[in-house]
Amino acid sequence: MSLSQIARSIKASPTLALNEKAAILREKGDPVIHLGGGEPKSRAPMDALLSAVNSLNTGEIRYAPADGTPELKKAIIRYTEEYYHRKVNPENVIASGGAKQAIMVALQAILNPQEEVIFPAPYWVSYPDMAKLCGAIGVAALPEDGTFYPRLKDIEMRVGSYTRAVIINSPNNPSGAMYSEDFIADIVDFCEKKGIYLIMDDIYHRLIFDGKKPISAYDYTKKSVEESKLIIINGVSKQYAMTGFRIGWAVGNKKIIEAMANIQGHQTSGPSVLLQKAAAGALNGIQSGVESLRATLENNRNVLIEQLRSFSGVKVYVPDGTFYSFVDFSAYEKDSQKLSQFLIDKVMVLTVPGKEFGLDGFLRISYCGTIKDITDGIERMKWALDPNAPNELYIGDRKLVRDWS
Ligand code: PMP
Repeated sequence: MSLSQIARSIKASPTLALNEKAAILREKGDPVIHLGGGEPKSRAPMDALLSAVNSLNTGEIRYAPADGTPELKKAIIRYTEEYYHRKVNPENVIASGGAKQAIMVALQAILNPQEEVIFPAPYWVSYPDMAKLCGAIGVAALPEDGTFYPRLKDIEMRVGSYTRAVIINSPNNPSGAMYSEDFIADIVDFCEKKGIYLIMDDIYHRLIFDGKKPISAYDYTKKSVEESKLIIINGVSKQYAMTGFRIGWAVGNKKIIEAMANIQGHQTSGPSVLLQKAAAGALNGIQSGVESLRATLENNRNVLIEQLRSFSGVKVYVPDGTFYSFVDFSAYEKDSQKLSQFLIDKVMVLTVPGKEFGLDGFLRISYCGTIKDITDGIERMKWALDPNAPNELYIGDRKLVRDWS
């Protein structure tokens, strides 16, 4: 069987594969703890559900416009005014099948084969493969100072004649690092001077801690929306716990949005009207669920960090937001894929290998589950990795016996 070059260059999403693995082990009755997940466990907002149900009850679920329904666009315009302090028009907005599709069609609208898009490392697992889907090249920029906070020169040194765009994801998946206002101001200015696109993947922008406030890249440009090459990405998946609804969006100048809509129109058409109704319901409805999720995640982060600090040998970085922490386990094992597999095999704890995010020796540990998952999960990991731990560990009435040294 012959496959295209692109198909051969793409690997399965490691995070989606891990979800499948967790489901299979659970079905077998194994007491798995999934610390590799990427979705909040709260219920979708009632306003989202009611909007979708009312729409469904009409029995008339038709095609949506390729770039989103007027109702959802209106809600996104309001959101943009509130969080980005910019008045935009419907032609500046596209609703897509998740932030994932919004980023993908943006890259397809920008990149020619062999051209480059730069993003700080560690990076979201999909960026390199999305670049490959365009026949283009993803260039990772690991901060030189060994932190998770890039400086302009980390990006600048990788910019060349092939560079067409930079993607910034703050707060960041997997590190939870939220970049400073100064850095955002610098990168906006830099991309403007270079004439390259700046894609802000803001999917976690309200899930931030320690009193931090969401940052709007539009605050750091004097250009109008039409003159600007900023593309803002956001969505309902994380902040409203609506991952399965698959609604995200992009805001940008009308030329780029039109190009994205043309691509999306041939690719998938507009996202389902039913799900756009739900997303509009969430955006227009009561907002208290977002704050309650944010506060829960902040508490979960505090518990996780406390647990990890008592884990000798691991190096902990305190996340500023999201529901991920990126933890250095290299003192135990430098090969993160081997370590992740070991923890699944021995103690049924799922974590994502750092290598998938461009940094080996680390594991991504999520704290979007329950406090019990976090504390039990870390306890099992400690038991598996500490050579001085007792020989046996009980999980319910199941006895695990150490058969490794
Ligand atoms: N960007 C980042 C950084 C993410 O972590 C994710 C989801 N894991 C997405 C985009 C895509 O989100 P959506 O569910 O809206 O497609």
